[in-house]
Amino acid sequence: MSSAEAFYASIRAELDAIRDAGLYKRERIIATPQGATIRTADGREVINLCANNYLGLSSHPKVIEAAHEALRTHGYGLSSVRFICGTQDLHKTLEQRLASFLGTEDTILYGSAFDANGGLFETLLGPDDAVISDELNHASIIDGIRLSKAKRYRYKHNDLDDLDAQLKQADADGARFKLVFSDGVFSMDGTVARLDEIRRICDAHGALLGIDECHATGFMGARGRGTHEARGVFGKIDLITGTLGKALGGASGGFTTGRREVIDLLRQRSRPYLFSNTVAPAIVGGSIAVLDILEGSTELRDRLAANTKFFREGIAALGFDIKPGEHPIVPIMVYDADRAQKLSERLLELGVYVVGFFYPVVPKGQARIRVQMSAGHDQTTLRTALDVFAQAGRELGLVR
Ligand SMILES: *Cc1c(COP(=O)(O)O)cnc(C)c1O
Repeated sequence: MSSAEAFYASIRAELDAIRDAGLYKRERIIATPQGATIRTADGREVINLCANNYLGLSSHPKVIEAAHEALRTHGYGLSSVRFICGTQDLHKTLEQRLASFLGTEDTILYGSAFDANGGLFETLLGPDDAVISDELNHASIIDGIRLSKAKRYRYKHNDLDDLDAQLKQADADGARFKLVFSDGVFSMDGTVARLDEIRRICDAHGALLGIDECHATGFMGARGRGTHEARGVFGKIDLITGTLGKALGGASGGFTTGRREVIDLLRQRSRPYLFSNTVAPAIVGGSIAVLDILEGSTELRDRLAANTKFFREGIAALGFDIKPGEHPIVPIMVYDADRAQKLSERLLELGVYVVGFFYPVVPKGQARIRVQMSAGHDQTTLRTALDVFAQAGRELGLVR
């Protein structure tokens, strides 16, 4: 065999191994806009419990109208990165609006939150510095840290004694600057970082604190500003990264927000910003409309909170093993990957669209169904979903 043929054969063998382990992921095709109910490509209407569409804004008429308007007034695309000829008034408006929404000074937009995290650490930290990261941080944070030359320290998930110990170690190693970084909300468990305590520990060590708010911006906290608001440290976080691709309309795009000089340096040096295209005007216009809606009323985040409470109580009463908490992510623990797949397949047959999560997205032996609430759901629909869970759970011997 030539070496190229051997390469393709080894790729096929790896795919076979993934299939044999029951870890193969298939895309299910949707034929409608994103929403509380959707139609799959085979024509079935199903209740959708797996989108990050927390506020139901992915197909909100005002957001769609604003996107159409931006398309009309600002065109389809910029065909440029920001600093060459890719910055419109709309981009500057959205950056300022995000800063004021999140209690910071300035914001830089990226093509995605993955890029925001990818271009953060390398730009701000050098070999004399330390980054201290929760071990369950999102893949994009891990990759972003890998790209930087800073010394890396990992603390046990949500373990503040270990965080303190790692900070002491960084001090002992003579770190110049220390940056602690955590997901605001951890996407596989719905765990909400204890930012008030983390902030206190950081202050005791003179460390900076950064958070990734992808599963928080728009609905955590009384005004939906995020985990920092929910934990009483609004305005006290040094760096925040986030996405436009989840609660804030769900299209795509990401951002980093913080102090003016930090954002300014990111505009000079951050590689995904310098070398990747501008966020499309329609998305920017839609995102500004999202902020108008969220600053005008807390109705959507309030409805999301009510739906979350209703579903969490209902699914626990059925006897399912869920991770406790208050976040609209409701992880239903199945542990075994194959069984999680079977449960999600059966739920889909019965009209509820959810996805099983298993290695490598979660640790081995920790497979689960991740249910996500949305303000777009009504409680009649959620009641139906609970009935379907009860039936499928009984069939698979997960509940009695
Ligand atoms: C979804 C997610 C990202 C990636 O966001 P994109 O804008 O889709 O790239 C980054 N971090 C966390 C914690 C996420 O949940």
